[in-house]
Amino acid sequence: MSAESCDVVIVGAGVAGMSAAALLAKDFGQSVVVLEQAPFIGGRTFTVVGKGNRVVIDGIEMDAHEFQKALGYARIILGKCTPDIETIFEKGLLDGLTFEGGGHGLFWGDKSRVQCVLNHIGEHIHMPLNKGFGFVKWNGEGRPGSFFQVKKGKPYEWMSPEGYRKTVEQLHAMATLSRDELAGLMNISLQHWLEQRDLHPEAYDYIKVLAASQTVQAEPAMTPAADFLGYMAIAREIGMNLVSGSVATVGGQGPIAIPLKMEEVLRTHGGDVRRNNPVREVLIEGGRVTGVVCEGEGGRRTINADRVVCTIPSRHMFKVLPRQAFPPDWVSRLETEYWGAGIMTGWGVFKRSIWRDVGIEPSSFIFMPGIIREGYIGAVDMVMTEVTAWGDGRAGRGPDGKHDFVFSTALTDREMRDPAKVDRVIETCEAWGRAAFPSWDEDMEFMIWTPAPEGYGFWRPVGTERPDVKSPFLDGLYLAGDQYGRRLWGGGVDGAALSAVLCVDAMMGSRLEEQIFPSYHRGIPEVSARSALHRR
Ligand SMILES: Cc1cc2nc3c(=O)[nH]c(=O)nc-3n(C[C@H](O)[C@H](O)[C@H](O)COP(=O)(O)OP(=O)(O)OC[C@H]3O[C@@H](n4cnc5c(N)ncnc54)[C@H](O)[C@@H]3O)c2cc1C
Repeated sequence: MSAESCDVVIVGAGVAGMSAAALLAKDFGQSVVVLEQAPFIGGRTFTVVGKGNRVVIDGIEMDAHEFQKALGYARIILGKCTPDIETIFEKGLLDGLTFEGGGHGLFWGDKSRVQCVLNHIGEHIHMPLNKGFGFVKWNGEGRPGSFFQVKKGKPYEWMSPEGYRKTVEQLHAMATLSRDELAGLMNISLQHWLEQRDLHPEAYDYIKVLAASQTVQAEPAMTPAADFLGYMAIAREIGMNLVSGSVATVGGQGPIAIPLKMEEVLRTHGGDVRRNNPVREVLIEGGRVTGVVCEGEGGRRTINADRVVCTIPSRHMFKVLPRQAFPPDWVSRLETEYWGAGIMTGWGVFKRSIWRDVGIEPSSFIFMPGIIREGYIGAVDMVMTEVTAWGDGRAGRGPDGKHDFVFSTALTDREMRDPAKVDRVIETCEAWGRAAFPSWDEDMEFMIWTPAPEGYGFWRPVGTERPDVKSPFLDGLYLAGDQYGRRLWGGGVDGAALSAVLCVDAMMGSRLEEQIFPSYHRGIPEVSARSALHRR
């Protein structure tokens, strides 16, 4: 086995790994090697762009079979397709269209954390926003429901006056929380926080779907309150809301453009990213990491480094880290108690915009709560939108005349792996589509459902901490990703970006967090979090 050396090895080329890599190389002159097991980088920001009867990801062209296999790298499952996936490919129905695994909705767009990281390394990726906010009141299966375009500052027309008053009260209470108060809310559930405030059922339905759209947690009792409340608390400071636009997409290449830009910066500063290079083992000697063993074209090789950043989602990290190096109860908790926040996407493309027919601006972000209330851990809420219409119709995600329609719902990983539960959601949504839009079948070109059981990574049970970015158990081991960091709040792409910055600061003793992020994007204050914990 040949050996080489570098300052830092990073395991995984998702948003977290690439953010950390670019920062370490550019700001600190560290020699960095990123090892990625997949033939493409990006991890869960897996994005394909249709090209004739194939799709392209990170320069690799794929047919239907290869596409299905590639989804597996982002732990996304190919579900029901209409027509079947081979026909969708053969007919070239994907030509010119962009579709991503993760990152359909990048909260705060050009004001997001990930954009802050890009700006810091001298880059920028335009992130066109939604405009408008719609609501569908579910009136039962086989019915179209009632449609509402939400107007800024106007009462929510689907609610009773009492329900609206209570909802506004809750939203106000959320928007005025300080960062110190958020720190104290890390260890209680969102359900508990809402109940303390005299939860009104209409407010509950609205806030629950809002929370699920941001944290992909379907059940407020399982959601650490601050992970959601953080989004609400910064809304005022950041000056964005759902009505004026606060969720973004990336045109062209889609969100994979983010790690690709970071790779350019890394390479300019002497770093390297190696695709098709799975790490098999993190090497440890005397309680500290000494490097990794990976597998590439030339076979197995060792890379020596006294610092390793592992970005593998927590439940899977012991595939490369020896369990015996950690306290058994910590390992057991990660493997058995942490649960996967799954997200299921239905992506359809239509010949025309069908939302206009029902009085909703197609560029709206649209909520449809509580379509299935029994048999799931939380009620099944749908978030929908026509992404091609974002950025005033110039999102650059498809040829003229194509209108996509994304359904998205949060289920737990366990539910997502139960075909009967998945099928029930799909059937319910498609039946609703047919009832709501008379030209549904006539206008639809295709529909692809993709359950992703671990879309938002693994969440800690309420009251426990996320694994921290610097391992207290092994010298030189760091963890970064959308689920790592005691001070992390939220999740998704922005969570991964914050975690990476916290990780680099922990490693280099720097304060990049303050340089890169405005105060509202920073981690939960540490000291207060501790004292808040003691106060409980
Ligand atoms: C279907 C879906 C929808 C989503 N929607 C949104 C959304 O709308 N908004 C949002 O903000 N977020 C969304 N997300 C979540 C978002 O994509 C993730 O939070 C984010 O991309 C996580 O980045 P990461 O770097 O932490 O982890 P990952 O992207 O998982 O990166 C980890 C990397 O490690 C690699 N790896 C694993 N094992 C090894 C090994 N042994 N050797 C080498 N490499 C290895 C993996 O291949 C991967 O590239 C969604 C995710 C999914 C799946």
